[in-house]
Amino acid sequence: MIYDSIIVGGGVAGLMSAYFLQKEGMSVLVLERDEVCKGGSYAAGAFLTPKIGKFSPYKEYVNRSLEFSIDFYEQNFKEMLNRCGVYKLPYDEKDKERFKEYEKFMDIDYRKLKEGFFFPNAAVIDPKDICSVLKQILNVKREEVKDIKRMGDIFHISSFKTKRVVFATASTSLPYPVSYLRAKKICGYRYDVRFRNCESLKNIFHKRVSISPFMKNRVAIGATHIKSKFCMNLENDAKSDRYDLLKKAKEIMPLEDVEVLKIYKGERLSSLDYFPIVGELINEVETLKRYPYLRKGTKVPFDDFIYYKDLFIHTALGARGFVFASYNAKLLKDLIVYNKKLPYSLMPVRHFIKSIRNPL
Ligand SMILES: Cc1cc2nc3c(=O)[nH]c(=O)nc-3n(C[C@H](O)[C@H](O)[C@H](O)COP(=O)(O)OP(=O)(O)OC[C@H]3O[C@@H](n4cnc5c(N)ncnc54)[C@H](O)[C@@H]3O)c2cc1C
Repeated sequence: MIYDSIIVGGGVAGLMSAYFLQKEGMSVLVLERDEVCKGGSYAAGAFLTPKIGKFSPYKEYVNRSLEFSIDFYEQNFKEMLNRCGVYKLPYDEKDKERFKEYEKFMDIDYRKLKEGFFFPNAAVIDPKDICSVLKQILNVKREEVKDIKRMGDIFHISSFKTKRVVFATASTSLPYPVSYLRAKKICGYRYDVRFRNCESLKNIFHKRVSISPFMKNRVAIGATHIKSKFCMNLENDAKSDRYDLLKKAKEIMPLEDVEVLKIYKGERLSSLDYFPIVGELINEVETLKRYPYLRKGTKVPFDDFIYYKDLFIHTALGARGFVFASYNAKLLKDLIVYNKKLPYSLMPVRHFIKSIRNPL
């Protein structure tokens, strides 16, 4: 059989991409080298919270994705979503001043508190639940993709054939000649804990870490901020709470008699400007052959670049993968099925242009 699409990678980016394409009636196969959602998606909180700050295209994108994703989970996976709202609290005096300034840029529903804000349109979802339901709906096979060959219009991946490939591997090194994507890995933890009176927690609290409401007999505490060079010993670091997750959580509320039930650790991939990378991949060699003067800064409309036909990417979801994945997957589906353009801020082409201007 020849699949309409093969998605490489079964984290939230890959599963959501597959879900939206399958809903359009396409035959879709997900190839995952491990179990689904065992990568970054395994460790996530997964808190769905807004971004505050001055106006910026990134903030606008985050809050639009948030609105979309909460509606999407509500319509399709209602029983898994806890629409609990979030208390965002400043962490020091400087941050208090920033919060005051941010108020004039607020573009979402909020309530002002003595210190900080409450946002009712925030939620939390259990990543394990959502991934296992998606796994049941989708066709997932265990396979590490090391090599992709194209013969005519068909891609061959091991014994599988497909008309189209979407890379969702949380990586920019792909088994295909693409060298211009730039992103970095950041690590983090989630601790599942219990503490005295934790059953009464009904909302998310966020200061320097996020604390979830009481769900499934535990409270989740999460943060991702550790540079990749320090990711090596996360297991040991977690045992000694080296990055002070519990200490930072105690700045929000007293955690008495804390029992750490489980520690999750994971990596997330972030592009340098935090926007995810979604869309068609460019054939950089052929593009530069046709337009060598691109290297000298001459502008060429990016529609005229040479793209790898039917080869796409959905990656670099950063610290908000569960906020972005469904929105991006919808945009990707609109591109693949209806040829609707993606926002430029997400497109791989912007990385290509940057890489020509600033080669490594
Ligand atoms: C500690 C922590 C807390 C977080 N908290 C939140 C949160 O509260 N809210 C939120 O929205 N986000 C949160 N995130 C971020 C979120 O988890 C990520 O953005 C998201 O999971 C990324 O999804 P992904 O599918 O791109 O990557 P992954 O989940 O890493 O999936 C990539 C998959 O590709 C597979 N793969 C790779 N190469 C191959 C190959 N060659 N062949 C086959 N399969 C391959 C991997 O095995 C993996 O399963 C958190 C992340 C961490 C680490």
